[in-house]
Amino acid sequence: MSDNKNKASSCPVCKGESSVKYTPFCSQRCADVDLSRWLGGGYRIPTSERPIGPADDDEIM
Ligand SMILES: [Zn+2]
Repeated sequence: MSDNKNKASSCPVCKGESSVKYTPFCSQRCADVDLSRWLGGGYRIPTSERPIGPADDDEIM
């Protein structure tokens, strides 16, 4: 019956040691990654975003 959570929890992103500063994450980077996932960005970090537009439109009509 150990309902009491451990003070030193693990980072939900990389399962590493969580930092008090970035709790429950271990670093700002992991916090950012988690945030991106929440925003529906999947599991990727926007490095060089490519604007998906009518750049290569196929004019069949
Ligand atoms: Zn982490």
